[in-house]
Amino acid sequence: MNIYVLMKRTFDTEEKITISSGKINEDGAEFIINPYDEYAIEEAIQVRDAHGGEVTVVSVGTEEAEKQLRTALAMGADKAVLINTEDDVEEGDQFTTSKILAEFLKDKEVDLIIGGNVAIDGGSGQVGPRVAELLAIPYITTITKLDIEGTTATVVRDVEGDSEVIETSLPLLVTAQQGLNEPRYPSLPGIMKAKKKPLDEIELDDLDLDEDDVEAKTKTIEISLPPKKEAGKVLEGELEDQVKELVGLLHNEAKVV
Ligand SMILES: Cc1cc2nc3c(=O)[nH]c(=O)nc-3n(C[C@H](O)[C@H](O)[C@H](O)COP(=O)(O)OP(=O)(O)OC[C@H]3O[C@@H](n4cnc5c(N)ncnc54)[C@H](O)[C@@H]3O)c2cc1C
Repeated sequence: MNIYVLMKRTFDTEEKITISSGKINEDGAEFIINPYDEYAIEEAIQVRDAHGGEVTVVSVGTEEAEKQLRTALAMGADKAVLINTEDDVEEGDQFTTSKILAEFLKDKEVDLIIGGNVAIDGGSGQVGPRVAELLAIPYITTITKLDIEGTTATVVRDVEGDSEVIETSLPLLVTAQQGLNEPRYPSLPGIMKAKKKPLDEIELDDLDLDEDDVEAKTKTIEISLPPKKEAGKVLEGELEDQVKELVGLLHNEAKVV
C-alpha cells in the first residue's frame, strides 16, 4: 500500500509567541511537527505494518523542515520529501500549499493520504480537503478510527463529540483528529536508521510549476495576539449578598442578563 502523509512544520504554541511588524517572530520560537500530523504519521506506520507497503512523508516549506521530516523517519516512515519553496514563493496560502502537494501527488500510485485535521498555527483545516478535491478522490476529515479491508475503508469521524461511521473506497484522503492513536516517540535505533533513509528535496521546477501557478488567492491583513485575560473577581460576604452582586455584575458589566 502506498501511503503518503502531509506534514507541516509549525511553531510550538505552548511556547511564548511574539509578533512584530504583523509577523510572528521566528527567532527564539520552537518548531515542531504539527501535532495532528503526528497522529497522521503514527496511523500511516500502523496501516503499513498491518497491510505492507511504504510510508512517504511530504512537506512544503523551507529546508528547516528537514528536521521534522527526519523525526518522521525516526518514528518509522520510509521516505521523506521536502518540496522547497524558499526561492520561488514569498507569500503563500492554503491554495498555494494544496496546489503544490496535489501536483506532487497526481502521478503517484496513491492508496491512502493522511494529513492533520488542522495546523495549530494557520488553523484553517483546508489543505487536506483541497488536495483531495484537486486529485478528485474521496476525503474524510477529523477521523478517530481507520480500518482497511482490500480497497474498502471504514472510518469513524468525530463530529463535535459524536461519531459518524463512513464506508468508502481507496484511494482516499483522511485527516487525523486527536484520539486516532497514541503517536510513538522516535527510538534511539529509529533515530540512527533515519539518518540513512531517503530524504529527497525538490523544487517547483521539478513539478513543472512556476510562481504564477501557485500565487496565493488570499492576503493576510493583520495578525494579532488575543487580548490579555483580565484577573477574575472573587465575591465575598453573605451568600445572599454575593448572589445579588453577581446578578448585578452579569447585568451591568458582562451585559449577559
Ligand atoms: C510557499 C509558502 C509561503 C507561505 N507564506 C506565508 C506568509 O507569507 N504568511 C503566512 O501567514 N503564511 C504563509 N504560508 C503558510 C500558509 O498560509 C498556510 O499556513 C498553509 O498553507 C497551511 O494552511 P493552514 O496552516 O491553515 O493548514 P491547515 O489546512 O489547517 O492544515 C491541515 C493539514 O494540512 C497539511 N499541511 C498544511 N500545510 C502543509 C505543508 N506546508 N506541507 C505539508 N502538509 C501541510 C497537514 O497535514 C496539516 O495538518 C506560506 C506557505 C507556503 C507553502
